[in-house]
Amino acid sequence: MIVAVDGPSGAGKSTVCREAAKRLSWNLLDTGAIYRCVALLSLESGVQDEAGCGAIAADLPIRFEASARGQRVFLGARDVTEKIRSFEVTQRVNDVATMGLVRAELLGIQRRLGRVGDVIVEGRDIGSVVFPDAGLKVFYTATPEARARRRQREFLAKGETIDFEEVVAQIRLRDETEYRREHSPLIQCPDAVVLDTSALDFEGSCQALMSLIEERRHCLEVKP
Ligand code: C5P
Repeated sequence: MIVAVDGPSGAGKSTVCREAAKRLSWNLLDTGAIYRCVALLSLESGVQDEAGCGAIAADLPIRFEASARGQRVFLGARDVTEKIRSFEVTQRVNDVATMGLVRAELLGIQRRLGRVGDVIVEGRDIGSVVFPDAGLKVFYTATPEARARRRQREFLAKGETIDFEEVVAQIRLRDETEYRREHSPLIQCPDAVVLDTSALDFEGSCQALMSLIEERRHCLEVKP
């Protein structure tokens, strides 16, 4: 069964999907990591145009591997798990993800990687474009304020302070880009179950996702 989990950034989707996959012994496909790998290679090679980035995407030697430290991401023999989370890659990936050619090339890769039995596939256009026939679609969201509060807590834990209103403004801006981009904008599929986690903690969010999966996996239905 494929479970498609889409939603805006910073709603805690990744951590919750990772934990739910672990507890259920399911596979996890973090499609954002694939876009991040294209962004990393684009930065390293200095290739910035759409045709060049499309060529990088078409020939992406990506591999996900389970390890005691959690899932690792490889480009060829190189472990890039930490590198693809760097500030530079995070900046670059926003451009790369808007390129139609890159998205077209990554579609096949995501579909091939996702056909691995029970899997949670996490991203922005999974239910709408990549796996429109997914057995369960979840739209995972939280209000900008709830997401900003979580970010604020993460910074506080590191002993750093950030301006709450500024974070809310940044989140709204990022949402605008994702909801309005030309290719595969973030949309809430009509057949997706909405999981608003604004009032839930991590454990509550995890349980909510796992209950949806448990319910649906025992339900046999013919889709229209
Ligand atoms: O989820 P994450 O922050 O790692 O995503 C990195 C980038 O890839 C974001 O800009 C996001 O919009 C984009 N992305 C996408 N489609 C996906 C997954 C991620 O456009 N399916």
